[in-house]
This record gives sequence, C-alpha cells and structure tokens, in this order.
Amino acid sequence: MKVGRLQSGSVALTEEPDPVAGPGEVVVRLAACGVCGTDLEKLRGRYQSTGRIGHEPVGAIHSVGSGVPGLRAGDRVFVHHHVPCYTCEVCRKGDLTFCPTYSSTNIDPGGFAEMFRVPAENVSRGAILPLDPSIGWEVGTLLEPAGCALTALRRVGFKSGDSVFIVGLGPVGILYGAIARALGASWVGGAEIAPLRRAAAMRAGFAMALDPRDAPELDRQVHAATGGRGVDLAVAATGAPPAIALAARLPRRAGTMNVFGLPEAGRSLDADLQELYLRGTRIVPTYATTDHEIRAVHAMLVGRNLDFSGLVTHRVPLERLAEAFDLAGRPDTAVKVAVTGPAFSG
Ligand SMILES: [Zn+2]
Ligand SMILES: [Zn+2]
Repeated sequence: MKVGRLQSGSVALTEEPDPVAGPGEVVVRLAACGVCGTDLEKLRGRYQSTGRIGHEPVGAIHSVGSGVPGLRAGDRVFVHHHVPCYTCEVCRKGDLTFCPTYSSTNIDPGGFAEMFRVPAENVSRGAILPLDPSIGWEVGTLLEPAGCALTALRRVGFKSGDSVFIVGLGPVGILYGAIARALGASWVGGAEIAPLRRAAAMRAGFAMALDPRDAPELDRQVHAATGGRGVDLAVAATGAPPAIALAARLPRRAGTMNVFGLPEAGRSLDADLQELYLRGTRIVPTYATTDHEIRAVHAMLVGRNLDFSGLVTHRVPLERLAEAFDLAGRPDTAVKVAVTGPAFSG
C-alpha cells in the first residue's frame, strides 16, 4: 500500500506492506484525512517529528482482530490517534491530553496511508467512533480539530454569554468560533491576514473578521463590540509570535487568553508582565483533544447544532500528497485540505 511520510524534509510516498489486525486491533481503509497546521510545521522542521503524519482520519473498517466487540468490516468510522492512560496522576486530575503517555500512542503508520492499524490500546480506550450516516467524509475529517477547540473551551472555563476573539482564522480557528457560538457565546470576532479565510469565518457566523495588521482599527472594533472592556476570552489560534502578542492584550480585566495554536519552538511570549499582573489576565495553554470531546462535537453535528459545511475547500488524492501539503500552506488559496484514500467514494 501507499504511505505518506516525511523523509529528509519533504513529503514522500513509500510502498509498504498492508497492515494486519492483531488481537484487539482494527485496520481501517482510508477515506479522508485532513492536513493539519501541525503536519505543516513538521514538514517545515519546526515541530518534533518521527516522520509520521496525518491524525484526522476517517475511513471504512477493513478488518477486525479477535476480541473487539461491536465493530465490523465496512463500518464508517473516525479514529483518534492519541489516547490517555486514565491511570496516571495527570489523568486522574482530569487533564487527559497532558498524560505523559498520551502522545506516544498512535495509529500505524499514520493517517496518510491507504490503510492504517489502530493499536489495541487505542481501540480499548474509545478511539474508534462510528460515524453517523449524516456525517460525510469531509466533515468527518474536521472532528479532530473541532474536538481540540472544544477541549480548549472546556479547559479555559468558557461560559455561555462570554465574548470571544480569535487571532488566526485557519480551519481550527474558524471551528473554534463556530463551537463557541453553538455553546452560547455572546459575540465572536476574529483576525486573519488571508482574505479568503476571513470570508470563510464570516460565512461560519463570525460577527467580524479583521486584518490584524491594522492594529488601531482592530482595537477600535473590539472596543466598540465589548463596551470598551475587552473580550472574556482571546484565543491565539496560530503560533505566529505577533498573533500571540495580540491575543495577550485583548482580554478584559481578569479575562482569559488561550494559547491554542502550536507556538514555534523556542519562542518567548512578548508581553508586559506588569500589565498582565495588574489586569489579572489568565494565560491558559491547551493541547489536543480526547474522544470525549470528539463524541460531543459529533453529537452536536448530528443534532444540527453545528454546521461545518464548506470549510473543506480542497480534496486531493493520496497519490498527490505533496500537492495537498503545498495547498494547505497557502492561506490565500485554501481553507482546509482533505487528502482522500481508497474508501472515499463521493
Ligand atoms: Zn491537528
Ligand atoms: Zn495518564
């Protein structure tokens, strides 16, 4: 089968043996897998990488190993690549995505492969979610990033009625805003350099999508929208240092700033500490998601409390994986890019 990997700084397709489902395991034929910003960061060499890429996969079950109840060949599923251990101190405190072994669990060989194996530890801890018939493959690829947004909203203590401003309106920034709205946000605004993505955010229900390079105008608009107080929650949904600095100065007094997008390695937060101190700004980093939030997002989609249609702007077959990465890295051309596999059929 064909497998997409990172090899010496580029995206390569290799030919590898088909995976086999051992006891407790499941093998899935790929229908589609989104290209995530963190995949791009791995390609650029700015994020730790083992060469494995693709973690937003949906597909049809190909085979099921012994001792796996309730799943059958042909089932349409979403698969979550990481699972917490549920037994360590961090897990017992409820901070599941910060479990020390969370990111060592993974699908094999990754989400950009014609087939992938789901290890027994993932299967037994709820990583396989049957997709409702109303959820198409493309929307299915958005479950993982949407789960990350919901995990963040829960971790920062978001409440219905809060105002939210999101800096960086890539796919996950837009999903974040859509979920905040569905959970009762009183106002959701955002900032993004690329006009195509600002337009996508407006279609997703943002009250405004501004150009962050015009700082005086941005300040004026946020001021007007929040009665001069600032927002309850400002989100840095990109790792670009100016975006993080912008998000740090938008919260109201005793408001919250969420470090949500992956920051570039080695970067520092450029913020006036005394200002943060006196304003009581809570800075909360959040990371990844678990199947609990992914199931919650799935239920919201099935219940029509959320609508992600139109966010996937490009579908590219696995054979042209390098082209998919190129597109995903061009914010003026694409919002979300989904790579399609053999189980994709319209
Ligand atoms: Zn991702
Ligand atoms: Zn744990």
